[in-house]
Amino acid sequence: MEYSRLVEVYEQLNKTTKRLEKTHIISEFLKDVNADDMEQVMLLLEGRVFPGYDSREIGVASRLMLKSLNVATGISADRIEKEWKKQGDLGLVAELIVKTKKQSTLHSTKLTIKKIFENLRKLAELEGQGTVDRKTQLIAELLTSAKPVESKYIVKTILGEMRIGVGEGSMRDAITWAFFGHKIGVKYTKEGNDIEVEDRDIYNKYLDAVQHAYDVTNEFALVAKAAKSKGLQGLENIGMKVGIPIQVMLALKADTIEEAFETVGKPAAIEFKYDGFRIQGHKDEKGNIKLFTRRLEDVTNQFPDVVEFVKKNVRGKSFIIDSEAVGYSKKTGKYLPFQSISQRIKRKYDIDKMSSDFPVELNVFDIINHDGKSMLNEPFEKRRALLEKIINPEKKKIVLSKSKIVSEKKDVEKFFREAVNAGNEGLMFKSLNSPYKPGARVGYMIKFKHMMETLDLAIVGAEWGQGKRSKWLSSYVIACIDENGNFLEVGRASTGLKEKEEEGLSFVEMTRLLKPLTISEKGKEVKVKPKIVIEVGYDEIQKSPTYESGFALRFPRVLQIRDDKGPHEASTLDYVKKLYNSQKKT
Ligand code: AMP
Repeated sequence: MEYSRLVEVYEQLNKTTKRLEKTHIISEFLKDVNADDMEQVMLLLEGRVFPGYDSREIGVASRLMLKSLNVATGISADRIEKEWKKQGDLGLVAELIVKTKKQSTLHSTKLTIKKIFENLRKLAELEGQGTVDRKTQLIAELLTSAKPVESKYIVKTILGEMRIGVGEGSMRDAITWAFFGHKIGVKYTKEGNDIEVEDRDIYNKYLDAVQHAYDVTNEFALVAKAAKSKGLQGLENIGMKVGIPIQVMLALKADTIEEAFETVGKPAAIEFKYDGFRIQGHKDEKGNIKLFTRRLEDVTNQFPDVVEFVKKNVRGKSFIIDSEAVGYSKKTGKYLPFQSISQRIKRKYDIDKMSSDFPVELNVFDIINHDGKSMLNEPFEKRRALLEKIINPEKKKIVLSKSKIVSEKKDVEKFFREAVNAGNEGLMFKSLNSPYKPGARVGYMIKFKHMMETLDLAIVGAEWGQGKRSKWLSSYVIACIDENGNFLEVGRASTGLKEKEEEGLSFVEMTRLLKPLTISEKGKEVKVKPKIVIEVGYDEIQKSPTYESGFALRFPRVLQIRDDKGPHEASTLDYVKKLYNSQKKT
């Protein structure tokens, strides 16, 4: 295919901002592309020559481009630079100066997509001595043959400045319309706000097939090629390839335990929700390991430590695992929040020092492919069982995510407490019989970060009530405990108790319990020996200068007496702090 055809499309796309029109332009164009050219055309259409997850780059800066323009046109570097200052865009400069030059000397042969693609990929591969000259030659060769408008897009593509303003959704639609439009009767009109189709259900079936193919390959170039050459079946059979990242499954959110259970069903698996960052680990049959972030960027070089753990501790000829890398303190071994290790992700130098200064533990929670077999349609329960079989856990290196199967609210509450105490964000609920759905935010995985966690607090003081409550101690000073055994106040609770004894925990009963514990009295205020522990609910934990703990509970409510707990088993200050921090993250 000639490059000029693609350039026409770029120009058309630039003339409109309407999503539907852009989609239509692309879909019409794709109908004309043959299967052999499809991959290259699609990549160039997106302004690239490498897939998004490929870390290779064309690697040409503006200076080198100036030089190439100079070599191609013979126009002095000074003049080109002046023009650049004026235009602010080297693509436009190229178009202008090639136009001037064209009229006189340059002679052109027709540029093909293949030629452009070849030269651009070579640019990325060159290294060593003489690289600058060879790169200049490769670019100049293209520019010499290019028409003015073509040179604009060549320059923009090389500099990574192509923006056609077409998102993933439009690309998916364009492929669907191009290759299946005739089957589903897609009708597009320039004036309309949407396309017309004969049957929405059938249309959605095709859309889903295209989306699925994209989710597993991550590359519209491959999707378009499969659709063109093998139709719907080609899309359905498109497989993931170990070494090429697949879109990760995303989580929904629940605010209550009941809501989470409702979505994932009972029993459900619950896991610690680690505050790190997602890593998709691949091992191919040759033993090569690759690591990708949630956004599918290749971070293999930044995490040699993780590469080692994955290589050593996961059995299998090839696999794709899903996991969370969590930073921990070298001193205490405790988990650290994500921010403490985030700098490792973009780091290009001193990698070994970074690994040693900011170590991470890999918590593996899912498996997507094993020994060449896709695990996407296996139920979660089976995927987890496989992980348990193939991972050889080593603390502070690679472990399985901490997990439990539960049906009861109280078990969730207990596990949540454990999770928060260990420095995690909360819990993940997982539906036991669900597949792995790449790229989708479906209810197979639910994050639960914010439980209105109750606290068990010691009563250290109280106040006599007013009016008809004057016979009762009706407001209670509540305290947590620090590591030295000091009781530190976090607020005053006066709601939650009954006025009539027969209705439940009452002011009368509380007064009866507290009065004998009195240490001192001043006005209505009474100090009592810490002995009674109560479970307290609240709306929020706030920082507070008023109380010696530094925290205050908003709207505390007495829930029950914890007569199974002594005062020294009250919730610790550290725990209050952790709950406060976990609250901030939601
Ligand atoms: P969020 O980023 O708040 O939408 O939460 C979802 C993220 O939690 C996932 O993308 C993972 O990076 C992370 N995560 C931490 N622990 C787990 C776990 N046990 N299972 C799944 N995802 C987890």
